[in-house]
Amino acid sequence: MADETSPLDSALRAIGDPWSFLIQQEAFFGVRRFGDFQRNLNIAKNTLTDRLSLLVEFGLLERKRLLDRSDIHEYRLTARGLDTYPYALSLMKWGDDWLAGKDGPPVILSHKTCGRVLRPKAICSACKREVNAEDIQINLGNIAETVRKDAAQVRVSSRPELYTAGRPTSVSRTLSVIGDRWGFFVLWLALAGVTKFEHFHSILGIARTTLTARLNHFVERGLLDRLEYQSRPPRHEYRLSESGKAICPVLLTLHDWGLRGLQKHATRTSVLHRSCGQPLHVEIVCVACGKPPLPKDVEVKQVHLVAPRARKSRPPATASKKGARRAKA
Ligand SMILES: [Zn+2]
Ligand SMILES: [Zn+2]
Repeated sequence: MADETSPLDSALRAIGDPWSFLIQQEAFFGVRRFGDFQRNLNIAKNTLTDRLSLLVEFGLLERKRLLDRSDIHEYRLTARGLDTYPYALSLMKWGDDWLAGKDGPPVILSHKTCGRVLRPKAICSACKREVNAEDIQINLGNIAETVRKDAAQVRVSSRPELYTAGRPTSVSRTLSVIGDRWGFFVLWLALAGVTKFEHFHSILGIARTTLTARLNHFVERGLLDRLEYQSRPPRHEYRLSESGKAICPVLLTLHDWGLRGLQKHATRTSVLHRSCGQPLHVEIVCVACGKPPLPKDVEVKQVHLVAPRARKSRPPATASKKGARRAKA
């Protein structure tokens, strides 16, 4: 059916642009005002204006005028915006695990519910077992139609390094590795078992050079392994590496969020949990207490304050004084 939308497409249209989600992350940190978003993210004003209005349009943020100041607006997360929290935690976890390096994660979350450091874990909501890439079966359905239909709405930054120019977080680092909507789709197809260039190309319908660039990027960043399966002429296949497999909760929480937004729309893109045979819906829980964390129950500690090449010396603005804490190192 022509008007069918896949959950991943629907989610990517709303928050697939990394800037949009970095603004969301600031909102989770308690930031509400234009100037604070701008300073913390080191983002161009026109880009910020554009993304804020899109987030309002998609119902993730609401814009409110302050009662006593008609000239100042605040942006607050809606219920739909708050519902992206599992996705935020998945992005953070992958960056913490694969990109933090010797300095450790730049942001540490404490789960007030149990008093421990919050380490997120992805479990299947039906069987409660931890989700891993090998136990997932993705039915791609009509993805080739929907991905092309929405191609005009792809937002691409030619400089993904800009995403990490503001407050250092694992979320911004992970998003700068994934890159853009095509990056998400390449990883999604790889998770679904697509391995060959021509297969990726037949589904995505993008320029061969664009696809080559995305695949090479993921090979360089270690998410995909390139293996020769034929030598004359040389042909390669692309398979998720350990770090590539570990990114599956990011894709699944995004997919689930898109699915919750579509409600009545039937979709043929479905995900099964092989371990229990049920449709897979991912829950993100705290490893220590097993409960799904809510933003209000989480305390944010900014450990590393300044991005490596950022020149600004003011600390990121947050709603609470606890938010910013200088690193000992
Ligand atoms: Zn299950
Ligand atoms: Zn906990």
